[in-house]
Amino acid sequence: MEKVNDSIKVPLRGLPNGSHTFEYQADGEFFQTFGSEIIQDAVCDIWMVVTKSRDFIKLDCTIIGSVIVECDRCLDDLQIPIEVNRGLLVKFGSEEDVDVGTGDDDVMMVDDTAAMLDLSQFVYDYVCLALPLQMVHPEGECNPLMTAYLAKETGGEVSVECNMPFSGLKDLLDNKNN
Ligand SMILES: [Zn+2]
Repeated sequence: MEKVNDSIKVPLRGLPNGSHTFEYQADGEFFQTFGSEIIQDAVCDIWMVVTKSRDFIKLDCTIIGSVIVECDRCLDDLQIPIEVNRGLLVKFGSEEDVDVGTGDDDVMMVDDTAAMLDLSQFVYDYVCLALPLQMVHPEGECNPLMTAYLAKETGGEVSVECNMPFSGLKDLLDNKNN
């Protein structure tokens, strides 16, 4: 498996007709190269099944792994599983040649003299689109210190007081603040 830090490329020139599988791995650096402020770290395996015919190339992209983001509630690391499967149709020609009504697949036009097809942007977009709108730990799994602090700040009930293991946390925080 090829580890990529900044680009996921499929060779076009010299690629024989038929089906070929390329494997890549994208880590946190890959996402940071694209300027992602959301994804702190990542381990994603990427499989690109490239089916080449005379007129076009069909790509079947599978991304499986996980990314680390900041929990919207407690700001601790939150691991989000990623599982994406997307099709991409690559046609030779210019942007104006794009047909309408090509189905569910994304269509990308490339110059027929292009030697490499850079799919980094697609992979980046696919992963970002796979992220849930609300990124928070499951109920009760947030950082208890932060949960207690937030409850205090908003003047709400400090629910962790009910839980024996965390019953001393609020006092602890209060002492810290004084
Ligand atoms: Zn959290």
